[in-house]
Parts: sequence; C-alpha cells; structure tokens
Amino acid sequence: MKIIMLGAPGAGKGTQAKKIAEKYQIPHISTGDIFRANIKNGTDLGKKAKTYMDQGLLVPDELVVDLVVDRVQQDDCTNGYVLDGFPRTIPQAEALDAALAKLNEKMDYAINVDVPDENIINRMGGRRACVGCGATYHIVYNAPKAEGTCDTCGEKLILRDDDKPETVKKRLDVYHEQTQPLIDYYSKAGILKDVDGTVDMEDVFQAIVGILGE
Ligand code: ADP
Ligand code: AMP
Repeated sequence: MKIIMLGAPGAGKGTQAKKIAEKYQIPHISTGDIFRANIKNGTDLGKKAKTYMDQGLLVPDELVVDLVVDRVQQDDCTNGYVLDGFPRTIPQAEALDAALAKLNEKMDYAINVDVPDENIINRMGGRRACVGCGATYHIVYNAPKAEGTCDTCGEKLILRDDDKPETVKKRLDVYHEQTQPLIDYYSKAGILKDVDGTVDMEDVFQAIVGILGE
C-alpha cells in the first residue's frame, strides 16, 4: 500500500501518517523529518535546506526528489510506505510518478486531510516537537504527560522555529500556491480521498481506516 498524505502544514499529516505506519506496518517517510535530522547532524543538505525552511519556503525540488526516489526503493518499502510532506509541488509529483513507472509501480492513495486556514494557526502555535526523537504533541489536543518533556524519549519539547506565527502565514501562502494544485492532480489520477481533518485525531484515523480497509 503506497500512500501520500496531502494537506496544509499543521493539518495533521504527520499525526495520521504515524498511526497508518503502525497499523499497516509500513515505513513513515517524512521529508520534513529527514531535513530536520540533517540540520541536527550539520550535513550539507541540512545547511542548504535550513535557509529555505527558516523562511517558510519550500526546499528546491532538486534537493528533495532524488532523496525520496532513493528512499522508496529501500528494502523496507517492498510492502508500501506512507509519504508525509512529499510531493509538495507538481514537478515533485511528476518526478515521483515517472520514477515509479520505471519500476512498474504506482501510488495507491492520496489522502487529503482537509483543515481550514483558521484552525491551522491555532494548531501550529500549540504544536511541540521533541528535539530527541521528533515526536509531535499539541499543548491542548495531544498534551505530553509531563509539560515540556517527550513521553517516548524524555527529551525536551520545543516550538519549531517555522511554527512561529509569521512563518506559519508564509507557509500557508506557499501551500495554497504550490501544494494545493496536487489535490486536482491526484483527483485526475483517480486516487484522491478527502477526510475531514477538523475532528478529533482518533476520528480522523477511523475515517482513514474506512478508506484503506481493516
Ligand atoms: P502536519 O504533519 O500536517 O504538519 P501535525 O500532524 O504535526 O501536522 O499536526 C499539527 C498539530 O496539530 C500538532 O500539534 C498535532 O498534535 C495537532 N493535531 C493533529 N491532528 C489534530 C486533530 N485532529 N485535532 C487537533 N489537533 C490535531
Ligand atoms: P514539514 O515538516 O512537512 O512541515 O516540512 C517542514 C519544511 O521542510 C517545509 O516548510 C519545507 O521548507 C521543507 N520541506 C519538507 N518537505 C518538502 C518538500 N517535499 N519539498 C520542499 N520542501 C520541503
């Protein structure tokens, strides 16, 4: 099962992708997580990506596409995978389709987690990310057991630099301009599935399971 998560920044793609990965036993591939790991490790890719991420801009396609195309050909991806945060532009989607076509493969589902902009600002302001393992929380909707500390690894929780309100606004503009056209792209490909992302995260997940099957 090969799945793409679509939706605005903060719509809940990562939250749902983790649950999908666990239930269906497939890897969760988040390009944002890959970039953040590279930034943390001080790699060249991380340095390049950071300049764009800090401004709320997309990292150029050429820094993302090969990375994902290589990743989905690794052994753990034979039964499928869930892509979170990729593709984010039409050229990225076309490059993914072309790479899969060469392998005689194609994506099965593009799940669009639909959340209006008004809710997004609130979601991002309350999001906290673990500096150790990258786990994501929300101070109201998915609070950690002890404030400021990751339930899983015990490391500190922080507000991501790009979750500050001025950057979130820019990211939403970028989303509408460059990423939202993918909804039409995957609708035409016949694999688009919409879910209401404004309801409780468990209910969003049940809607997704309804689409993917038990
Ligand atoms: P994305 O991966 O799309 O950027 P996240 O999964 O990180 O979004 O979710 C953004 C924030 O909103 C997080 O703090 C998360 O805990 C919270 N969140 C996710 N889904 C829901 C939901 N259905 N209701 C309320 N808050 C949610
Ligand atoms: P995310 O964790 O998915 O919210 O991504 C955080 C940031 O990483 C984005 O705002 C972009 O700057 C960058 N990024 C992640 N995935 C991509 C992608 N597929 N294309 C371009 N930039 C990306």
